[in-house]
Amino acid sequence: MAATFTCRNFINGKWLENTDNRLQSINPASKNEIVATFPRSTDEDVNSSVMAARNAYKNWRLIPAPARAEYVFKVGELLLTHKEELAQLISREMGKPLTEARGDVQEGIDCAFYSAGEGRRLYGQTTPSEMPNKFAMTVRTPIGVCALITPWNFPIAIPCWKAMPALVCGNTVILKPAEDTPACATKLIEIFEKAGFPPGVVNLVHGIGEETGKSLVEHPDVNLVSFTGSSQTGSLVGEICGRLHKRVCLEMGGKNAQIVMEDADLELALDGAVWGAFGTAGQRCTATSRLILHRDIKAKFTEMLKERASKLRLGAGYDTNTEIGPIINDKQLQQVRIYMDIARSEGASILIGGGIASEGTLKEGYFFQPTILDNVTPNMRVAREEIFGPVVALIEVNSFKQAIDILNDTNYGLSSSIYTRDVNRAFTAMRDIEAGITYINGPTIGAEVHLPFGGVKQTGNGHREAGSAAIDTFTEWKTVYVDF
Ligand code: NAP
Repeated sequence: MAATFTCRNFINGKWLENTDNRLQSINPASKNEIVATFPRSTDEDVNSSVMAARNAYKNWRLIPAPARAEYVFKVGELLLTHKEELAQLISREMGKPLTEARGDVQEGIDCAFYSAGEGRRLYGQTTPSEMPNKFAMTVRTPIGVCALITPWNFPIAIPCWKAMPALVCGNTVILKPAEDTPACATKLIEIFEKAGFPPGVVNLVHGIGEETGKSLVEHPDVNLVSFTGSSQTGSLVGEICGRLHKRVCLEMGGKNAQIVMEDADLELALDGAVWGAFGTAGQRCTATSRLILHRDIKAKFTEMLKERASKLRLGAGYDTNTEIGPIINDKQLQQVRIYMDIARSEGASILIGGGIASEGTLKEGYFFQPTILDNVTPNMRVAREEIFGPVVALIEVNSFKQAIDILNDTNYGLSSSIYTRDVNRAFTAMRDIEAGITYINGPTIGAEVHLPFGGVKQTGNGHREAGSAAIDTFTEWKTVYVDF
């Protein structure tokens, strides 16, 4: 058994002494193994981190953006050096297979290098003034202290997606990571420390969401909250920020669909469906949880999917054979199981899977069988609610129009996909689908860091992460008039 990490808070450039009030993260593939212990931070800890970030902001915002970007670039280089070590840790603490864990770190690396480039591109505008001898322009200014509240499913990528642009733009940050992945967050912040940021620019506060997270959101000296997590928590965070007049960027749940039309390349669509639905054990905000199938190919495609899904190899992420890792924790495992009862009671049928996997060593962890639900209709709860497990619901349609209508008939709007060889349908889908991301002939997963990422409806609140859109989140516009 690997050694247990002792995680600490990182405030004002120092790793703080530990308290006795500690919590644990465990290996979801081997639930008796403690991966890390971490502090249950108090309001006082939160206040210290905010004071440090507020103080550091005074100078950090004055450092030229290209120079701030050099620190971020250094983080990218260090992440590259530590990529394998971080990937192994992700697999152990969060459970995803190593290939996916390497991808998680790579997203952080790509984001660092991309965001560093933004340091030389924080463009404003000049514009003609109405008046003579007057110069008019806009400049971007930082916002201040940013609280970054992150989930466990991308424990390196998501904090990086937030921290890198925030820092380049001249803000200081406090990361509050998910309770399930404190060791990943600690290792990441060690890398920020090595990159040499001035004290207080980057801070880490561990703890419980309802305590530490809430305390950060409510703190009057936090100017911006960037939150990724469930729609339920995001709504609470959004309400508080609205009341306190602080900027809030919400990235929340999804109920993403892949359409397969009768003219699609079925092998290609099958690859998309398998990895979209079952990759990361379905624990991605962009996971395919609805497959909308044209009736002409439904029977054939369902057989192909059953065949592939039933052969997927479950196991610990760090076993090189593994294709599907565990569910993050027991609570989430039970949640997925409960949805099976809901599916049955609503009249759906379970084609494969449908239960907790407990053969051999799987019983040591939180594994759920890859599951296909058939005879699902759009009004069933399993077609409407985010399950966050390796479960996909099949919905049959008669036409392209019906497919788009059903895809759009959801409270969420993150990712979407259509497989078709018809260019007219492809462009119509691109125009008419109500989602932040649409893939044509590709799965619902697989974002690139230089393009805006986020969703509409209950998935987001109008902000985007990644790409140059992230700069809009982390800066304010200032208009300047100069008389001469
Ligand atoms: P979650 O339970 O909402 O937690 C997200 C973060 O919020 C965690 O750090 C959590 O801390 C913290 N938190 C909990 N209650 C809080 C409160 N009252 N005030 C402030 N912070 C609070 O979500 P999760 O289970 O970690 O992640 C899964 C969800 O994230 C799914 O719905 C998924 O779709 C979504 N997600 C969305 C995106 C996107 O970009 N749209 C990306 C990835 C994931 P604790 O861990 O201590 O509870």
